Order: sequence, then C-alpha cells, then structure tokens
Amino acid sequence: MKNKKNLSQALRHNLLRRKQITEMSEIKKLDKIYEGKAKILYATNDKNLLIQYFKDDTTAFNNQIKEIIDGKGALNNAISERIMLDLAQKNIPTHFIKKLSEREQLVKKVEIIPLEVIVRNIAAGSMSKRLGIDEGKKLATPVFEICYKKDDLGDPLINDDHAVIVLEIIDQNQLAQIKNYALQINQFLKKLFADIDIILVDFKIEFGVDKDGEILLADEISPDSCRLWDAKTSKKLDKDRFRRGLGGLVEAYSQVAERLGITTY
Ligand code: C5P
Repeated sequence: MKNKKNLSQALRHNLLRRKQITEMSEIKKLDKIYEGKAKILYATNDKNLLIQYFKDDTTAFNNQIKEIIDGKGALNNAISERIMLDLAQKNIPTHFIKKLSEREQLVKKVEIIPLEVIVRNIAAGSMSKRLGIDEGKKLATPVFEICYKKDDLGDPLINDDHAVIVLEIIDQNQLAQIKNYALQINQFLKKLFADIDIILVDFKIEFGVDKDGEILLADEISPDSCRLWDAKTSKKLDKDRFRRGLGGLVEAYSQVAERLGITTY
C-alpha cells in the first residue's frame, strides 16, 4: 500500500516536472522592453516572464566613462545565477528562474522599486568620500543605505522618510522587509565570500514587486554591484578596477567565478 502511494507520488512529481520543462522550452524571446547600462530586458510569450540579457558594456559615474569589456556579461550572468540560486535556498525570494544561455536568464517580471539598496561592512567609495573616512575602516555593524534610483539626479542618498513620506515609493512595512532581506543577504554573502578568501566590502541590490504584490530580489548580484577584496592581498576583484582605471577586470571577475567553483559561463 505504502509502495503504491510512493509510486503514484513519484509519477505525479515526474509528470509535473515534465510539464514544467515543456513549458520552459516553449519560452520565446519577443521585443526589447528596456535597455539599461549593463543589461537588456526582453518580453517573452509569457506575460509574467522576461529574459534578462547581460551586456559587455561597462559604465561608471553615471555613464561618464564607458567601455565594452569582452566577457564581462557572461561572467556576471554566471556569478549572479549562482548567488540567486543560493539565496532562494535561504528563503530569499528572487526574480531568477533559470539561466538560458551564456548571456541570458529567464526572470519573473517585476516592477522595479526605484531604490538602490546598499549594505556596507567596510567604509569605501561614496561613503568614504562623503564622510571623510579612510577606505578600509571596518564598520562596527553592517550599515544600510538607500539611494533614490534616478539618473538625472545622480541617484542621491535618501533616508527612510524620503522614501516613504516624501517620494511615496514604498510604505514603512515594505521598507522594513527590504532592510531585513538586505541584512540577511549580507550575512549570506559575507560568509560565501569569506570561505573563498574574499572580503565583502559592500554591495548594491534592487528589489521589485511581482504580479502578486510580493517583494522579490531583482536585477543581479555580481562583481559589478559588489566591492570584493582579496583577503590576503587586498586586490580589488570588482568594478572598481574599471572605475579607478586599474585594468584587469575580466581577470578579476574570472578569479571570483573560479573561486566560487563556476567552471562554465
Ligand atoms: O559608490 P558607492 O560606494 O556608493 O557604492 C556602494 C556599492 O554599490 C558598491 O559595491 C558599488 O559597486 C555598488 N553600486 C552599484 N551601482 C551603482 C552605485 C553603486 O552597483 N549605481
């Protein structure tokens, strides 16, 4: 009796899986609906799904410097896939569904919340500049920041009241949820990178709201959006190599991928 039940459960599971695979294989790429600095979004024949394409275009300081760096898109796609899958396992809801090709991934359609959510463990970049703190100063606890995602204003740093009351981007509960996710993601990423001798200095993430009103982690998590320093040498393994004209960006991103055990991208 028990065996029969197990058998029918396994059968149902297999049928469901086959249905999911068939549905996936029917996904068709349609029109471009958005082109950002480093990624393109395409509609698909499923109104709730999009294809996110990773470009090699590399920009900094709000497009003031630009270069096409061969191989960057594929590396970010592979690294972001790995991190999004790991985070989903940790019960962080994400837009990621599956990697489709070297530069493409299938994602859930969301309305992006226009906030750049930043978590910092060590002072660097704009925080060091704004507050006059040496880069590399360890912060006593992780520091949470939000910036208003608006290119023409240069993505200004804002506070909770600006986001909730002035700009009415989200409500207090949604902001609390975003902060909670961001700090959990920080805990997870800090360990993931520490285990491969990389220090997570800071990172930026973006969230979106799906058709059911659920907040999902969207966009990407890659060396384009994190500051990563080699634990032994302090070598920068992130986009600061481009921002600061240090060169060797693809080599650095490849190092990150390799240490994460990613072999194909
Ligand atoms: O420049 P700043 O110090 O504010 O950057 C903090 C973090 O956010 C860094 O990891 C940086 O790579 C990331 N960031 C980003 N996209 C931006 C601005 C910052 O991914 N437009």
